[in-house]
Amino acid sequence: MKRIAVMTSGGDAAGMNPALRAVVRSAIDAGVEIFGIRRGFAGLCEGDFVEMSAHSVSGILQRGGTILRTFRHPQFDRREVRDAAAEVFHRAGFDGLIIIGGDGSFRGGHCIDAEWNVPVIGVPGTIDNDIPGTDYSIGYDTALNIAVDAVDKIRDTATSHGRIFVVEVMGRNSGMLAVATGLCCGAEEVLVPEAPFDYDEIVRDIEQGYNRGKQHAIIIVAEGATSAHTATEQIRTRTTKEVRMVVLGHIQRGGDPSAFDRILATRLGHAAVERLLDGARGVMVGLKANEVTLTPLKKDRNKARQAVEYMLGLHHCTR
Ligand code: ADP
Repeated sequence: MKRIAVMTSGGDAAGMNPALRAVVRSAIDAGVEIFGIRRGFAGLCEGDFVEMSAHSVSGILQRGGTILRTFRHPQFDRREVRDAAAEVFHRAGFDGLIIIGGDGSFRGGHCIDAEWNVPVIGVPGTIDNDIPGTDYSIGYDTALNIAVDAVDKIRDTATSHGRIFVVEVMGRNSGMLAVATGLCCGAEEVLVPEAPFDYDEIVRDIEQGYNRGKQHAIIIVAEGATSAHTATEQIRTRTTKEVRMVVLGHIQRGGDPSAFDRILATRLGHAAVERLLDGARGVMVGLKANEVTLTPLKKDRNKARQAVEYMLGLHHCTR
């Protein structure tokens, strides 16, 4: 392989920059030309390519977001759009592609690998941590720490006023970030899309907590389960306690990547280049039990659900 390309795609995650830096520098170290594709699949379709040098990724290890920028380009699920993009890609002379992104990006990557005869390697970068084949995705640790820090602060106010707080965290269709936040903060309740919930039961549990002497209640809501607004309205109709809501929103995504995410990103970015040059294709690099592993880009979604159910069980036993 002489010339490869790398892109970031889907929702941005802290740690995408360190992953990109590791990919670029590892490729150069291996004597391979490396090009960045700007704006994810949109830039791929338009030929928005830029040659990367070791210097082009200087000073980004500690920066959130992605210098290549990212984009959602739903048109890429259409065959004719991909066929046109294939021509653009082949004309640029790339022998392989590394995609730093989430599950949706890997579906696009799987199509490229299968239809264009181009080896594709995925690097899991999403705050959602919902990708089977890796214990952690890049950006999750940073986002989780931001959410935990925010909820710890909210708890001070909740306790002072004896209030119920409903806090909505991100995670798209996955409850992993929410349940992990609940676990770390000792939240009274966690609502996730992977498990049914009942507002009567939730309010009963909360009232019992107050009767035992609790000074507050924190309810973490995964954005994929319901909105904080709906949960707050439902709870308000069932209690006389004061209920407030906070939507953490986009403050969870950005900011400096944590030390953990910098190491994870560097390991996986390096491994992606190494494995691509070794002949691997159609796979994602991940970290399982501290070992770099390969998993097909096309995955069993059930595993992500099981991981959330396990965390939920842990939360129930320890709250
Ligand atoms: P993430 O990668 O973070 O899960 P998205 O789900 O938004 O983010 O996916 C990112 C991009 O990947 C989409 O905007 C689209 O360009 C591409 N993509 C998603 N699903 C498919 C699919 N089934 N086929 C081809 N491309 C897809």
